Amino acid sequence: MSPLVERFTAVVGANHLLADPSDTAPYCLDWRKRYLGRALAVARPASTAEVAELVRLCHETGTPVVPQGGNTGLAGGATPDTSGAALVIAMGRLNRVRGVDAANNSLTAEAGATLKSVQDAAEQAGRLFPLSLASEGTCQIGGNLSTNAGGLAVLRYGTMRELTLGLEVVLPDGRILNALSGLRKDTTGYDVKQWFIGAEGTLGLITAATLKLFPRPNAVATAFVGVESAEAAIAWLSKLRDRFADRLTTFELVADVCLKLVEQHIPGARRPFAAPWSLLVELTDGGDAARLTDDLVEWLAEQAFVDAVVAQSESERQALWQLREAISEAQAKDGASIKHDIALPSSAIPAFLRDADAALEAAFPGVRIVAFGHAGDGNLHYNLSYTRPGNENLFDDEERANAIVYDVIARHAGAFAAEHGVGQLKTHWLTRYKDPVALDLMKTLKAALDPKNLMNPGKVLG
Ligand code: FAD
Repeated sequence: MSPLVERFTAVVGANHLLADPSDTAPYCLDWRKRYLGRALAVARPASTAEVAELVRLCHETGTPVVPQGGNTGLAGGATPDTSGAALVIAMGRLNRVRGVDAANNSLTAEAGATLKSVQDAAEQAGRLFPLSLASEGTCQIGGNLSTNAGGLAVLRYGTMRELTLGLEVVLPDGRILNALSGLRKDTTGYDVKQWFIGAEGTLGLITAATLKLFPRPNAVATAFVGVESAEAAIAWLSKLRDRFADRLTTFELVADVCLKLVEQHIPGARRPFAAPWSLLVELTDGGDAARLTDDLVEWLAEQAFVDAVVAQSESERQALWQLREAISEAQAKDGASIKHDIALPSSAIPAFLRDADAALEAAFPGVRIVAFGHAGDGNLHYNLSYTRPGNENLFDDEERANAIVYDVIARHAGAFAAEHGVGQLKTHWLTRYKDPVALDLMKTLKAALDPKNLMNPGKVLG
């Protein structure tokens, strides 16, 4: 064991310092198995003080640090490079909920707590923590903060950035920033916690957060609505907002091809009708469930649509949600695809689809476009695969396909990464599409906080 690894071991104890390659291997491969790195060692600290001492040692010795949460990230941000020089700091033991302040509607949790455990703690206090992702049993609060995670209820409650009141962070030199405030108002200068949200571990290591809680909704009403076009779908978004205001919690857009894939690959799944586009619409409020469903049915009766069903029981609701949630699994079973996680103003979605579909069809005739997503907050998953022999070159030419999609995104004032981050997957796209002044400010901040470039090097800014 090297003297440096011995010093790390002295901080966390022998049971929590992994240096054997067979032990570190699971921490060196990302969720999608696109990136395989090597680590000097993996440390599993159990307190903020231990994290700070590890980072201080790394700063002293010039050792790169890779923060790792649940390792469910989809951009390779938590995977070390292949040099074998980095210390991976795995946060899973720093997992306590430090406290719930029901009167302040806030909860303080350590960064290694899973999202599910935070949701459960909020529920036990009679409150809601609304961030919800399919990976919630495994992903951690620190990872959610560092990727500014989104998910299924952003339309109503916002992303992780909007759900955060305060942070505790270990800076690249080992100092501890205590910005763990439960305040909703604070005009004492710059809001420094914001620098670390969405920074993918490149500016510091988050050790705890104070998060916003909300009243738990009693009532939920869910409908699946078929419409003729993406234009019609976005018009529905406005109409639903006009009628139901912030009771509109979910507005998911699904192209028919997605539902056909679900029927084909997920046993027992049946779409309720065929329509060019479908909407999964969910309302929630604090009132009576039957009344909310009646309101939705009554309103739907006055609208024009291809077809619609309204869930009359929890099992019917689950079946409708399954159609939406099984799309990724069905697509994976169908074969390889090129995935894009993109953001647009919701109003620009129809024009983006028209332009991007046409540009891709011209470049890759027969390309199959599988589009679905959180259209209520402007986030689309826009995935490409091919439908006939002859255009397999789509995969040989993945970067050209990406450039076509991202150029159209840029023309519609969108972003090439919505909720999965830049990681090591998209650093070159950041250089191409980010506003040059914004990029310059990002580099200035990075140089000021981490002049030795030791915090998650190679990620985000490259
Ligand atoms: P990791 O993957 O471990 O790390 C992600 C990044 O954060 C890395 O750059 C890492 O270095 C950094 N990091 C982790 N912990 C810390 C810390 N304590 N301090 C500083 N930096 C840190 N994402 C969505 O936004 N919405 C979705 O709907 C969604 N659905 C998903 C569904 C599935 C099935 C899967 C596999 C992933 C999904 N994701 C989704 C992506 C992923 O779950 C999120 O990005 C999640 O926030 C990552 O959390 P994690 O703890 O796994 O982070």
